[in-house]
Amino acid sequence: MNDLSANLNGLRKKYREIFKKSAEEIAKRIDELRPANVDGDFLDAGNSEWNRAVLKMFDEEIARDIYIKWQEILAYRKMFKCNNCATCCNLACSEFSPEQLKLKAQNGDRFANQFLSVFIPYESKSEAQKVYPEYIKMLDENKEDEVYFYHCPKLSDCKLCTDYENRPQICRDFPDNPLSILPESCGFYEWKQEVEPVALLCHSMMEIIEFYKEKLCTSSQD
Ligand code: SF4
Ligand code: SF4
Repeated sequence: MNDLSANLNGLRKKYREIFKKSAEEIAKRIDELRPANVDGDFLDAGNSEWNRAVLKMFDEEIARDIYIKWQEILAYRKMFKCNNCATCCNLACSEFSPEQLKLKAQNGDRFANQFLSVFIPYESKSEAQKVYPEYIKMLDENKEDEVYFYHCPKLSDCKLCTDYENRPQICRDFPDNPLSILPESCGFYEWKQEVEPVALLCHSMMEIIEFYKEKLCTSSQD
């Protein structure tokens, strides 16, 4: 197992622990809102008063707190700078093939549109492998689905952006999520390391409230 795979496995383990604690915390907060005359589990109770109180708490407290924390994470990112290592220009991955991305872009997907306006596909995986071999190896070890590799033709041979002043938003914003995998050479690597626990907590909270909302929505349709 290479270092990146070990890091990814470590991250998964950390996430499982954080997720468990978040689930316990949210279950406790749901229970605190239980109406006096209602017994049993929240999802089985089907009590509309309780449901409303929980949904209000999700939206007005938990989702708001997550939003604030995420804004703080992004604001802190401004303390760090790109050091032009060029890895993200030279190797972008997507679970979508060029044809799938084109279709998504035609259907109004803004990210797919921007992505295709910047990146072109590598001729072969081995070409991409030369850029960041550890990353490709980690994907081979961990990813079950197909991954497609892209690069930007505006990167010069000396690894400089030939259109830096006009680079699109997608380049200016990268990395916009501390949970993405970044090379150690990236100027934002330290930012990612520092904010990762809070980002994992936000992510777990979001996943859990989405789970409850989906269950409530399904049971109201039954
Ligand atoms: S446009 Fe410039 S900054 Fe953006 S990916 Fe291409 S080389 Fe990198
Ligand atoms: S990987 Fe990070 S440091 Fe390297 S070019 Fe991209 S944003 Fe800049």
